[in-house]
Amino acid sequence: MKILVFDVREEEIVIFQQVRKTLNTHVDILTCAFNDETINQCVGYDAVSIAGMKSIDSVVLDKLKEYGIKYLSTRTIGYDHIDVKYANKIGVRVCNVEYPPESVADFTIMLMLLVLRKYKQSLYRQNVNDYSLTGLKGKTIRNLTIGVIGTGKIGRTVIESLSGFGCKILAYDVYQNKEVTKLATYVELDTLYKESDLITFHTMLNEETANMVDENTISKMKDGVVLINTARGELMNLQALIKGIESKKIGGLGLDVFEEEKYIYHKSLINDILSNRDMAYLRQFPNVILTPHIAFYTDVSVEAMVRGGIEGLLAMEQGDYAKELL
Ligand code: NAD
Repeated sequence: MKILVFDVREEEIVIFQQVRKTLNTHVDILTCAFNDETINQCVGYDAVSIAGMKSIDSVVLDKLKEYGIKYLSTRTIGYDHIDVKYANKIGVRVCNVEYPPESVADFTIMLMLLVLRKYKQSLYRQNVNDYSLTGLKGKTIRNLTIGVIGTGKIGRTVIESLSGFGCKILAYDVYQNKEVTKLATYVELDTLYKESDLITFHTMLNEETANMVDENTISKMKDGVVLINTARGELMNLQALIKGIESKKIGGLGLDVFEEEKYIYHKSLINDILSNRDMAYLRQFPNVILTPHIAFYTDVSVEAMVRGGIEGLLAMEQGDYAKELL
């Protein structure tokens, strides 16, 4: 099988080379982005591996099919950027990757602490010799009720870590997990909204979860609630978040993901004029911390993403469809 890999970062090249050697397979590596200009490079290959920064809609999938691509892997856990239904329909088999949930879970705990301990403000102040305390009083996790929405691999790991802090943990998922019930209490979504001081989101993005945080849901939450999102920006309505921060209904935000981040994150735009007013407006608040979708970005995850991206394609080619997305 001939595999073409796009979106390869410099540091990943050596890992791809090792994987290519151990799996003894034909893998060509490209550091350019997979996009409308580069897609024609797929001609002559059987499989393609990409990162998650381009929408793979029916038009792109038809092109891949026309170029002879039978298998597609996204080196990400989330696969909401791919029209999987359409891929299935036209016979392009798709898989994603898995990597240890601790990368995102650790980052989530860090965001909680950064927001709760007003770290952004204290860091800025230190740099300008402002050592005053006003406005920097924080909260300890032990005394809070934390709501975890989505108790899959990452949500569960966040709950495990949180249990060490001794706080009350509420959980919500459409499927309940037995292990989680040892550390957290599953409740109805509205109860979680009503009783949590801090809510962290770990659901996948789908039709049901898109915009699940809007003005209506925020109105059900406690005054001063802290929201943490390391899942997908589209879970939250941006205008509702802005209103919530302006009115002080929301006491703090920690967002590693952002709607429309595809055009911004993971690039240096230092000399560019950014046209995303909402983002610029939101990030200037002292109680809002934005990070550029880096919760996944650790040594172990990068290694697993590279390996998983190739192994998933080979498995499907060999008739093992356990990892295929349907
Ligand atoms: P997972 O599939 O193990 O868990 C997702 C959970 O969402 C499942 O338990 C599922 O039942 C639940 N869910 C689905 N629909 C729901 C609904 N309507 N309400 C409540 N829960 C619902 O996935 P995971 O590995 O835990 O990852 C979770 C998400 O984190 C991914 O989908 C991805 O979008 C995001 N992610 C972000 C980063 C990052 O760098 N920021 C990295 C990896 C993953």
